Amino acid sequence: MRVIFLGPPGAGKGTHAKMLAGNFHLAHLAAGDCLRRHIRGETKLGAKAKDIIAKGELVPDALVNEMMEEEIWRSRSMFRGFILDGYPRTIKQGEALDKYCKKEKFSINGAINFKATDGVIVERLGGRLACVQCGANFHLKNIQPKKDGVCDKCGGELKQRADDKPETVKHRLEVYHKESEPLIEYYKSKNMLTEVDGDLALNPLQEILTKIFESYKAK
Ligand code: ADP
Repeated sequence: MRVIFLGPPGAGKGTHAKMLAGNFHLAHLAAGDCLRRHIRGETKLGAKAKDIIAKGELVPDALVNEMMEEEIWRSRSMFRGFILDGYPRTIKQGEALDKYCKKEKFSINGAINFKATDGVIVERLGGRLACVQCGANFHLKNIQPKKDGVCDKCGGELKQRADDKPETVKHRLEVYHKESEPLIEYYKSKNMLTEVDGDLALNPLQEILTKIFESYKAK
């Protein structure tokens, strides 16, 4: 099964993708996580991406395409498919993905758009905490760590991401509306789109998503 998650930052794509990937034995391929791994690992790509991400801009398409193709390729032997989270994020990236699918002879089951209102997004990202070591996400109110400031998974320190500061969040939303929102129409016109309400709380939305994934599996 191969699924694309679309939607603004803070709509819950990453949190839901992690749970569904575990339940359906899929790779969770998150472009933002992958870029942050490159930054932590001080790779060439990480050096190019660091300032761009801190400003809330998009990393150039060619770099992200190459990185994600490699991620997809590497996941093939270990998983039954993948969830793409935060990729594609521009029409150019969508077209590159189509080309890659054709070349490698696989298809995508569907694209799920997480609709979320700007107010909810600002509240979620304002309270988000990320582990500096493993990148796991928590939230001051919605997903609290067992111990304040400490990651449940690896014991690393929890901090607000540089790009979750209010001014940067505002800019990321503008970039989303301009660059990424057109992908909704792109997948709608291919009859691949399902929309879900990203403002819903975690459990009800997870149930809805599970049903959608089961319908993909049945096809
Ligand atoms: P969010 O979905 O909350 O914005 P991500 O972790 O997905 O967070 O992305 C963080 C940042 O990484 C983005 O603001 C952007 O700078 C960069 N990024 C992530 N995915 C892409 C992509 N597909 N194309 C270009 N830049 C990306």
